[in-house]
Amino acid sequence: MKILIADITDEGLEVDIEESYRFEEVPLVSPVKAHLGLTKAHAEIIVSGNVTAELELECSRCLKRFRRVMDEPVNVVYHPIEEIGTDRHELKDDEMDMGFYKGEELDLQELLKEQLILNIQMKPLCDEKCKGICSHCGTDLNTETCGCETGKIDSRLEVLKKLFEK
Ligand SMILES: [Zn+2]
Ligand SMILES: [Zn+2]
Repeated sequence: MKILIADITDEGLEVDIEESYRFEEVPLVSPVKAHLGLTKAHAEIIVSGNVTAELELECSRCLKRFRRVMDEPVNVVYHPIEEIGTDRHELKDDEMDMGFYKGEELDLQELLKEQLILNIQMKPLCDEKCKGICSHCGTDLNTETCGCETGKIDSRLEVLKKLFEK
């Protein structure tokens, strides 16, 4: 969805979005919904609101797939692309993300994609307490226990490694 910058009046512009996007980088399992307010301040465009979507992620510990609803605030200041390389945008507000727009349009689809990517954890967990899988036998330690004595084996290996290093 693209917004013509000329459509943003002095009072601002409110947009509601509900779209079934396909983003390669975001494993969406629901439409993306967003409520955004756009206001102009000189050449800058301030976009604030929120975005929600449901994603299917893979737990970094137990490798199970799980779904998570994201509901993230959006606070982005867009500068005209001509300002890149000038020192104007170094006066950055820490609370806001920064973007650049080119020409007469602002691409909200791109904005929503970036906001979702920004908020996906690097190592997603199905649960903070996820015990993961045994690195020796592959048992899911959330549902079963296994007989591997990982701790012992590891410390023995450490001793061996030290011997070989000498
Ligand atoms: Zn897990
Ligand atoms: Zn095991």
